[in-house]
Amino acid sequence: HNVESLGFTRIKRVAPISAGTHGGRAKCLQRLIRLDLPVPKTVALSFDTVHALAEGQQPDMDALLDVFGEKQLLSVRPSSEVADWGGPNAILNIGMNAARHDELAKTLGQDAADALYLRSVQAYAVHVEKLDPELFEFDNSMATSDQLNAALSAYEGETDEDFPQQIEIQLLQVLRSMARAWAGTTARLLRQAKGAPADAGLGLVVQAMAFGLGNGDYGSGVIQLVDNDTGEPIVKGRFIRQSQGRETQVNERNVIYLTKDGRGPSLEDLLPEAYAQLVAAAQLCRAKLREEMEVKFTIENGKLHIIDAIRLPRSSRAALRIAVQLAEDGIISKDDALCRIPARSLTELLHPQVDPAGVRDVACRGIAASPGGAVGKIVFTSAAAQASEARGEPCILVRRETAPEDIRGMHSSVGVLTERGGVTSHAAVIARGMGVPCVVGADVRINSRANTLTLPDGRDIREGEMMTLDGSAGEALLGAAKMLPPAKDYWYLQLMEWADAIRDIGVRANADTPDAAAMARNFKAQGIGLCRTEHMFFEGDRLTVMREMIFAQTHEDRREAIARLLPMQRADFTELFDIMQGHPVCIRLFDPPLHEFLPSDRAGAKELAEALDLPLSDVTRRIEWLSEFNPMLGMRGVRLGITFPEIYEMQARAIFEATVEASKHGDAVVPEIMIPLVSAKREVELVKTQVDGVAAAVRNETGSAFTYRLGVMVETPRAALRAGDIAQHAAFLSFGTNDLTQMTYGLSRDDAGRFMNAYVQQGVFPEDPFHTLDIDGVGELLNIGAARGRAMSPNVTLAVCGEHGGNPESIAFCRAAGFDYVSCSPFRVPVARLAAAQLVA
Ligand code: PEP
Ligand code: MG
Repeated sequence: HNVESLGFTRIKRVAPISAGTHGGRAKCLQRLIRLDLPVPKTVALSFDTVHALAEGQQPDMDALLDVFGEKQLLSVRPSSEVADWGGPNAILNIGMNAARHDELAKTLGQDAADALYLRSVQAYAVHVEKLDPELFEFDNSMATSDQLNAALSAYEGETDEDFPQQIEIQLLQVLRSMARAWAGTTARLLRQAKGAPADAGLGLVVQAMAFGLGNGDYGSGVIQLVDNDTGEPIVKGRFIRQSQGRETQVNERNVIYLTKDGRGPSLEDLLPEAYAQLVAAAQLCRAKLREEMEVKFTIENGKLHIIDAIRLPRSSRAALRIAVQLAEDGIISKDDALCRIPARSLTELLHPQVDPAGVRDVACRGIAASPGGAVGKIVFTSAAAQASEARGEPCILVRRETAPEDIRGMHSSVGVLTERGGVTSHAAVIARGMGVPCVVGADVRINSRANTLTLPDGRDIREGEMMTLDGSAGEALLGAAKMLPPAKDYWYLQLMEWADAIRDIGVRANADTPDAAAMARNFKAQGIGLCRTEHMFFEGDRLTVMREMIFAQTHEDRREAIARLLPMQRADFTELFDIMQGHPVCIRLFDPPLHEFLPSDRAGAKELAEALDLPLSDVTRRIEWLSEFNPMLGMRGVRLGITFPEIYEMQARAIFEATVEASKHGDAVVPEIMIPLVSAKREVELVKTQVDGVAAAVRNETGSAFTYRLGVMVETPRAALRAGDIAQHAAFLSFGTNDLTQMTYGLSRDDAGRFMNAYVQQGVFPEDPFHTLDIDGVGELLNIGAARGRAMSPNVTLAVCGEHGGNPESIAFCRAAGFDYVSCSPFRVPVARLAAAQLVA
């Protein structure tokens, strides 16, 4: 019988079925059949056929039923292209009628026959006729035969018709109702939310039922070979006696384990042969489908039937272990294993995580700025955070936004929550660098006077109350949620070893502090790609010295104040060099506008006046003098370096003296010095002359012959355009895509949060360009800069050190553009390493 032309296909070994025409379930069932597993007869309806069904056409029902022969009961299950896209509920026991009921009473027993007929009427009434489910729910203390009679009369009462007795009618109506459900708006919106295209097709799978109910050894269940949360090998699942597939009402007494382990009765005890056959079937699926599966089965009178199999749902952690184990078992290649792990999922593994299975009492939502979970009492000031840390109480720092003086408080906190800011705001950048979970731009209101936090639902949360921050989800939860520990286990290390063996673009970390550098090495960063030195000046005593320097009136006074910073900076750099053990360290000279180091309110100004022993008016005048209309476009970066050369001179000396020091007791160091915010070649010439001079002086004084590399940050559009000129004086060009994005769009990175949501929602920008590299615009500048730089100076090293450096898409772009390495926050280093490997695998 040639059923092909009728729009359905008996699934056999031959004639391959594709997920793109018949859906993933149909394809998987064919694979099971090809493995000679005991799969009942199955027919697949293609997307086109199901579409035609929804439009009112019908297949040749006689031909379809011919495949199954007489006296079969059938099931219909959805088969969308991707399992995640969902589909209508499966419907079982199609074809039940009074005559079949009588026959089955003889073969399976009266109870089983009643139960099967009852379920058949219930499913048909609810899913096909769309009758009220409550009318078909009965108290289980009622005899099954009475429930059946009640269901049949409820059906007649509601439809004014008898329950249809012909299998052709039942099956056609089931197929139609499932086809129409898929075509409906609700289902379409639901699957689109999961990434399905608007016109995604639905296939249907019609299968002969194996009976799970009857007098004797009957039942159904699922089996899997690993744990869903850990990926650890263990036979898991369950067997439910006297049941079929997913049941709404399960008699708990009938649920038993699969494996004999002393917890209670098991399938292994009950039916050792069927159990052994089942385990062998699951192992065969794993080996041949090259994936961990969840296998559905039915046992009919002691005989095993394999009904279906799906890819086992799993946590990120289990996914990693499963992939590595499959590769180690020779079932998949190492390259396959690398590609099976979404690179971003690694961030989830390397932080403590809020347990997704736990209770989630969401207090507020914001931008997921730094991943991981943290539990602590909320505090509103950095001082309170430090006090809390001193008491040994973990705390979450809640601020409107953070400023340099909050760094200490952030260090003392296990998590940071801010009302304002976007992905490159101060809080976000610092938190990522520290590896502290952080949510910014949250929909809360902070009342600093009352020290309370008003949630979107109007509730007030007071200082000291317990909260859980989920920096991966961008949410804060009330109370202490259940947590999962980070997993840097054998499986992770193995996968990363494979990744490093094949990738061809370097990965460094942005790190300013010894802790961050240690974290970078721990995550196997190949060096530091950006050390933002200004962060070193925000701490304690140094801030005071910085402020004295800012208040100096002459070059002399400034040099004197700054000289006091020299030993501190030298110690900072020596420590960084030591930690990095000869791996390159790229130190960026001072970048921010000076006013960032001054207090922003009157109380702060008064405190400063006292500390410096100056009249308050002097202090306020100086603050005013330093204030700029557009500080981010003002006197910062190299402009400051050229105007106040003492700062760069001190930093260069600190770097070189630290080089000599560190090289004495450890690996030889070749420091890299980077000039920020360059827009003209002459800027580089001036700084280079100055830094060369300092190097010569230190070489003389110490009698050691170190070398160093001077490079330029390309973060203004002009620097990208003039990269050819600039590269003549630079050993490397490192593209700062944060500022480059800000200046390419003319969009303040600190204020963009206000309208970014509206812009993204209305499709003005496809994504927040501070989050996802704007390939079309900013990317073009990167390409131009890279090409012009390389053309003029073929050996110039090219790098990216903006926040985008850790994004898999940006890494793909940078590799294609010929960059040598990317540099990102330490916690994103593993993501970058894996993403880079996936480009080669
Ligand atoms: C940049 O602008 O991309 C950069 C890395 O520097 P910062 O974020 O410190 O301005
Ligand atoms: Mg910058």
